[in-house]
Amino acid sequence: MVKGTPSKGKRQKRSHIRCRRCGSQSFSVHGKYCVACGFGRSRRMRKYPGWRKKKP
Ligand SMILES: [Zn+2]
Repeated sequence: MVKGTPSKGKRQKRSHIRCRRCGSQSFSVHGKYCVACGFGRSRRMRKYPGWRKKKP
């Protein structure tokens, strides 16, 4: 065991590339869809149903 985060340096393979619809680095190479906007999986933009913050 070491201090800190030992496995961080082993992340060489990129599992997600830049999505051409939403522009974020969330387009899965393996699954061929974007986990951020749902591009490749759904035509509609992916939404975050329950992640809205409470109104003050
Ligand atoms: Zn996207």
